Amino acid sequence: MEHTAIVWFRNDLRLHDNEAITEAVQKAQHIVPVYVFDERVFNGTTSFGFKKTDKFRAKFIIESVAKLRENLKKLGCDLVIRVGKPEVEVYKLAAEAKSSWVFCNRERTTEEVKVQDSLEKSLWKIGQEMRYVRGKMLFYTADLPFPVSQVPDTFTSFRKEIENTVKVRVPYAAPEKLLPLNDSINRGELPSIHDFGHEYVSLSHIENSKFQGGEDQALKQLDYYLFEQKLLGKYKETRNEMLGWDFSSKLSAWLAVGCISPKTVYYKIKEYEAKVEKNDSTYWLVFELMWRDFFRLMGKKYGDKIFLHSGMNGNHKPYKSNDKLFKMWATGETGIPLIDANMRQLISTGFMSNRGRQNVASFLVNDLKLNWVQGAEYFESLLIDYDPCSNYCNWNYIAGVGNDPREDRYFNIISQSKRYDAEGVYIKYWLPELKNLPTTFLHQPDLMSLNDQAAYNVFLGKTYPQAVFSSKHWSK
Ligand SMILES: Cc1cc2nc3c(=O)[nH]c(=O)nc-3n(C[C@H](O)[C@H](O)[C@H](O)COP(=O)(O)OP(=O)(O)OC[C@H]3O[C@@H](n4cnc5c(N)ncnc54)[C@H](O)[C@@H]3O)c2cc1C
Repeated sequence: MEHTAIVWFRNDLRLHDNEAITEAVQKAQHIVPVYVFDERVFNGTTSFGFKKTDKFRAKFIIESVAKLRENLKKLGCDLVIRVGKPEVEVYKLAAEAKSSWVFCNRERTTEEVKVQDSLEKSLWKIGQEMRYVRGKMLFYTADLPFPVSQVPDTFTSFRKEIENTVKVRVPYAAPEKLLPLNDSINRGELPSIHDFGHEYVSLSHIENSKFQGGEDQALKQLDYYLFEQKLLGKYKETRNEMLGWDFSSKLSAWLAVGCISPKTVYYKIKEYEAKVEKNDSTYWLVFELMWRDFFRLMGKKYGDKIFLHSGMNGNHKPYKSNDKLFKMWATGETGIPLIDANMRQLISTGFMSNRGRQNVASFLVNDLKLNWVQGAEYFESLLIDYDPCSNYCNWNYIAGVGNDPREDRYFNIISQSKRYDAEGVYIKYWLPELKNLPTTFLHQPDLMSLNDQAAYNVFLGKTYPQAVFSSKHWSK
């Protein structure tokens, strides 16, 4: 008897190293691939009222789904596209296609788990089965020397226990051919960002044009960073920079929606080490991928706690509610150039460097003393590479509610500004109104006298905001 399997694509928008499609092809003759734009994710809002998925990520995901459809067509098949609730839409499709199984990547965070549980329940009622597969992490949980409930709480212990003992499994090849979809199945239209209430995304900055969704673009970026430009060889020295495209791999957005798998990145790094060079930098990119796994495992171990103000360690730290201060932070109007430059980059491109993220997060929590969850939700809305575990666990750490042995993750913004943007190239790019300032004032324009302001044509409170803190704040 011939079988049909649904492959429900979620955050695994690729054909290479995709366990769901690999297993489905082994079990069934007919494959029905589907992607559902979850209306709650694309039209909904967070608890603080931000759009759950703002325009940068919406555009990126739409492009990724379009590319997936194109690549499935090349194999002789197609992608069914729906907008609605996945647990309803995938169920309807499974009933219509009379499939035997629905294969999908298992998600681990609350909202996603609710959806898959609900679908699994309805499928049972029509005699169909959910088959969960893995593919988000570098390591398989089954290969780890400890159960998830016993994952060490500190990154260093986690890393030391696995890095020389657990092997990264070899990626799966993409299928070579698939049977066509039955004519009776409505393929569905690809939505546009306007359908989700967004405006056009301008292409003014390098990030806007380079972050293009899809598996092909992901593999191209990996090749660009490793073999074409050989940037990997100096990653450790450049990774703390903030301006431009080449200082870090920029793979996060593709990794977040699964246009590329971490195993594929790992094996390409190994190839680079064999063919080009092996050094601290090549090791460091794998190190960062281990952080990604670690946070995913923390998310699994601590569940909903990572989203709560008291975080993983249950530490209730008092905070202020101040909409005015939050707005200044969110719009890049604090009068602290390093913060404003980073926030304006986020608003304009959906991206911010790791150094930038650490600084703006620390500033919100430790200087403004606001609720970190509000900051994390704002990131969730805007980040092109938003990933629930990476985002919320990083915020947990900076807010001091993670399981970090280094309790105090305070960043002195002025020192950071002078250290990581000594000449102010990054600040001047994002805050062109400060372009005439010498470095003596660029990191702290509030040190200018009225005469200085006139000399450099920067008027505090008029052409650039007055600083939220006086200079005394930084010498505490
Ligand atoms: C407050 C805060 C929020 C963050 N939110 C997210 C998020 O929503 N999604 C996200 O992918 N990353 C997040 N990060 C981690 C990190 O900033 C980004 O992964 C990185 O800046 C993306 O650029 P890249 O791909 O060039 O990274 P690279 O430096 O080239 O690193 C390679 C990959 O390693 C992973 N990685 C690197 N650093 C981290 C880290 N600290 N935690 C987890 N994974 C890491 C990413 O997948 C990244 O693509 C956050 C960091 C902070 C401090």
